[in-house]
Amino acid sequence: AAKAQGRNRFSHFTPSMQTASQSRLRLAGDLRAAIGGPQFRLLYQPIVDLRTGALRKAEALLRWQHPARGAVSPSEFIPVAEETGLIVELGDWVFRETARQVQAWQLRHGIDLEVSFNVSPVQFHRMDGLQAQWARHLREIGLPQRSLTLEITEGLLLDANQAVTEQLLKFRDAGLRVAIDDFGTGYSSLSYLKKFTIDYLKIDQSFVRNLSPDSEDMTLCEAIIAMAHKLGIQVIAEGVESEAQQALLARAGCDFGQGYALSRPLEAQAFDALLARRAERPARPAAAGLGGA
Ligand code: C2E
Ligand code: MG
Ligand code: MG
Ligand code: MG
Repeated sequence: AAKAQGRNRFSHFTPSMQTASQSRLRLAGDLRAAIGGPQFRLLYQPIVDLRTGALRKAEALLRWQHPARGAVSPSEFIPVAEETGLIVELGDWVFRETARQVQAWQLRHGIDLEVSFNVSPVQFHRMDGLQAQWARHLREIGLPQRSLTLEITEGLLLDANQAVTEQLLKFRDAGLRVAIDDFGTGYSSLSYLKKFTIDYLKIDQSFVRNLSPDSEDMTLCEAIIAMAHKLGIQVIAEGVESEAQQALLARAGCDFGQGYALSRPLEAQAFDALLARRAERPARPAAAGLGGA
């Protein structure tokens, strides 16, 4: 049966698939060579307090500038990094670079900046042992562990077996905060919210995109916010693209907003300049974006 299946698979293996897989193979090779070098960098997207307008949070987003292909999107290279196992090394670089940058900004601007970074499910499953190394690294450089937040998706917690559970608890023991990314899009089993200590829920942008008063999406956002707050979890809305959405979310009691209406993901230098500008004036309710961001 296995042989028949194998033959069957090959008969469906078309020339265009072969080209696609060769191109992925090349991409994987380029990826391996590029890790740790200047082709990879992080952008930082502001996460703004919707009540006060304060800027104390950001999400680190990985970018790959390929010498021949130009900018390769994470949705393209993260799966390749996962398939090849390179995601662990790449993710370790993301962690270290985020930690280094956050500490530099905390010192320079004298603020309690908190930055989150993404950890994909495959990455999470393969990184046993890294928690202790990460905790040690943070102690060595002297960055408070609560300054970093791990963003994971709910799919990871859905089939939370013993191994996943233990690993997540190790991250918590290491002092990192935990955010559930793209909340509401997975096959949610809300039981994980009481099983694990979660710091933030990030409402997926699909609920925010068509937000209007009295819409079903509005009801869902309000329900998520109410539930989270009763559980002691803060809420971040993703994909806030308009002032109207921002106002609706603020009125619904959503704690933080992230999206193009507030700011696009920024180069480190631009984020640094934004922190410097905002340190000069007191926090005020977030109006239209962050001003020149
Ligand atoms: P995510 O973690 O949900 O990140 C949010 C994505 O939404 C980012 O896309 C961001 O640029 C985009 N975004 C922000 N504001 C808006 C908005 O107002 N409207 C719209 N339409 N989009 C907005 P990006 O940077 O292309 O990243 C895509 C995904 O790739 C991320 O989704 C995350 O799952 C993954 N990713 C990014 N960096 C890393 C990383 O360092 N490690 C891992 N494992 N995954 C990463
Ligand atoms: Mg994220
Ligand atoms: Mg997200
Ligand atoms: Mg996403």
